[in-house]
Amino acid sequence: MKKLLFTLLFAAFLLPAGAQKKTAPLFEHVEPPFWWTTMKDHSLQILLHNSKTNVADYGVTLSYPGVTLTEVRKVENPHYLFLYLTIGKETQPGMLSFVLTQGKKKFNLAYELKAKPNTSPRPALSSADVVYLLMPDRFANGDVKNDTVPGYYQGAHREQPNGRHGGDLKGIGDHLSYFADLGVTALWLNPVLENNQPKWSYHGYAFTDFYKVDGRFGTNEQYKQLIDQCHAKGLGMIQDMVANHIGNEHWLFKDLPEKSWVHQFPVFTKSNFRGSAMSDPYAAKEDVVKMNTGWFDGHMPDLDQTNPLLATYLIQNSLWWIGYAGLDGIRMDTYPYPDKEFMSQYARRVTDEFPSVYLVGEVWINAVATSAYYQKGMINRDGYQSYLPSLTDFALHGSIPAALGEKEGYDTGLARLYFLLSQDFIYPDANHLLTFLDNHDLSRFSNSVGKDPAKFKLGLTFLLTTRGIPQLYYGTELQLDSDGQGDAGLRRDFPGGWPGDKVNSFTGEGLTTEQADVLGYTRKLLNWRKSNPTFKGGRLVHYVPENNVYVYFRTLGDSRVMVVLNGSEKEVALNTGRFAGSLTGATRGVDVITGKTIDNLATLVLGPRSSLVLELH
Ligand code: CA
Repeated sequence: MKKLLFTLLFAAFLLPAGAQKKTAPLFEHVEPPFWWTTMKDHSLQILLHNSKTNVADYGVTLSYPGVTLTEVRKVENPHYLFLYLTIGKETQPGMLSFVLTQGKKKFNLAYELKAKPNTSPRPALSSADVVYLLMPDRFANGDVKNDTVPGYYQGAHREQPNGRHGGDLKGIGDHLSYFADLGVTALWLNPVLENNQPKWSYHGYAFTDFYKVDGRFGTNEQYKQLIDQCHAKGLGMIQDMVANHIGNEHWLFKDLPEKSWVHQFPVFTKSNFRGSAMSDPYAAKEDVVKMNTGWFDGHMPDLDQTNPLLATYLIQNSLWWIGYAGLDGIRMDTYPYPDKEFMSQYARRVTDEFPSVYLVGEVWINAVATSAYYQKGMINRDGYQSYLPSLTDFALHGSIPAALGEKEGYDTGLARLYFLLSQDFIYPDANHLLTFLDNHDLSRFSNSVGKDPAKFKLGLTFLLTTRGIPQLYYGTELQLDSDGQGDAGLRRDFPGGWPGDKVNSFTGEGLTTEQADVLGYTRKLLNWRKSNPTFKGGRLVHYVPENNVYVYFRTLGDSRVMVVLNGSEKEVALNTGRFAGSLTGATRGVDVITGKTIDNLATLVLGPRSSLVLELH
């Protein structure tokens, strides 16, 4: 760990005035490491920490045109000081020089105010995009030298299902053409921040440093370069963040500024994981408290965001990563678990500062109304006002395999999707939800549909043509399954990501005929979707499913798409008379998969469990 501290990219060095050579950094943490003069909110909180010094003893002064040091705050733990600045509108970028005094000793602390944050050159993420989620440790090992890094508990052991496998940022950067050719338009990486935990560190959801990329993935600078490379290929980048909890190896937890930064219990208390309690009008207070304050797991202490210092720390951290790396989006983990007023404040501040950044919350609740509670613009009877623009559509996710696996009925079979979407009136913006078939926590879609390739393609077609911002999970384009033990099965290595892999999705080598077929199909559909203007907010009109055939249209201006999903076991010859209102004026349709033109739109023939996506002309 010691070596890590010394190599911290942005470590600030404190020098006795007039000293010629560098001494050990007297602050182990100065956070955020720098800031900008052009933020809409003019206040800044700077955390100073040294686990071996009574930092609280320092007197602090600052003289810089436009910047006022409004407060120097001590907390319970004397290893900390919090500085509060107001950065005036006309402030010029440059180096602040704080003067710190301790008795007769005097030190200077340099702190940079940069001109303005980096911003993505891409348009803001919308329903025209398709997001590709990948787990950095499990995608591709581009640099074997970082498989084991001194100072980290875990090195790479690919034979261990729950160990680290060596995937890294270089591995992702090496395959940007793969994503671009596949037709996805943005990447969401499971967390890249440091997770120096003794166990299960590969998944990334137990941060041990909020300001540092895990050394086994690469450096902050490499991360920023990767994002620049993504942007050059038109790909956006979404960073995964966690405000609910940290790893118990986090330096903040090992030397808490105040006990109240973490929810404390006499005996270990877990959350009850009932997100619904947060909006439930009948919820018992005890349940709400347990949901909110219980720990996510024994090694994941639960943060108390009602502490205003911590709240500011977490908000500034996300703003810093957006402005440092030029992010296109933030995916916030476990959205209903932190203090909900805090999350509202967080979402408001992030979207105020960076209106074009896509903010999506993981709201893992399989119900439309409970999900809608969290979307910005929702008028909730309890007065809760959320500022979260997008959230994960778990209700839709759960309906897809069910719809494909059951017999048709009034509201079963594909009619289940029809009824589910009919509830969209409740969402302020249903087309801005993140839709998906699977992710790192869920059974892979192949398993959800009993490894049936026909059902798999039907589900995929639906995902990519209905409303929302679709998200694909790495390997879904190969119909990978999640066979194997628990989480390890859901997060297997991507074929071709490791030297010597016999199956390689990047080259196509070793893929089964079935896999090559699904990959080709996905690529075709994605690239067509990318070039078709309809999905940039087009209207959706759907018809009552009959005989398990579900028909809908997407339209935007002159662009029209007709989608037919045949969920039945039989071939159908579909008389399209019922859809005349949406077909008006169309004389032919182009099958976007085969490229063939269909001149007779009066009757459409579909094989059992198959789909047809037509561009209408
Ligand atoms: Ca590696």
